[in-house]
Amino acid sequence: MLDKYFDNKGWCSFAKKIESPNYNNRPSGVRGEISLLVIHCISLPEGSYDNDNVETFFLNQLDYTQDECFQSLRTLKVSSHFYIKRNGEIIQFVSTDKRAWHAGISAYKGRENCNDFSIGIELQGTDHSAFSEDQYNSLADLTNTLLLRYPKIKGNIQGHQDIAPERKKDPGKLFDWSHYLTMIQSN
Ligand SMILES: [Zn+2]
Repeated sequence: MLDKYFDNKGWCSFAKKIESPNYNNRPSGVRGEISLLVIHCISLPEGSYDNDNVETFFLNQLDYTQDECFQSLRTLKVSSHFYIKRNGEIIQFVSTDKRAWHAGISAYKGRENCNDFSIGIELQGTDHSAFSEDQYNSLADLTNTLLLRYPKIKGNIQGHQDIAPERKKDPGKLFDWSHYLTMIQSN
């Protein structure tokens, strides 16, 4: 009952599935036990939303000639478990059972390599602009579903900027944590 929104392979029923090759297995045992949710933001080019560049980027199929700023992405292999577009559409790229490549060098509560034990959600946006209400609604629905399946996430929801403060600023100061957390069940 608790898992009614997930199949037994870690795919969410209300997300659109676009499978990325950018993942590997989580470490076995406690090391890979899911106990952290990481909120990110991304848009390609930054601040441009009316395109599917993030989707193609996570599939390693982005047309890198399209924009000068894409050159630096050429060698990167990146993915998140989920991506929420401005209109609230949720896309899942990697099974939550698997280790998506979203956090990079990172640490939380003294544990490094947050990708091992976290789920990553990207919001389409920038780290210096506000997010849409549709995105908050979808993020809250998704988070509440994840909390049922992975109760150790409770109280352990962080921004990428919090687990990699030297390198990252996302989701940024305009991400409304109090608004989001009031929509989360008993967090
Ligand atoms: Zn990030």
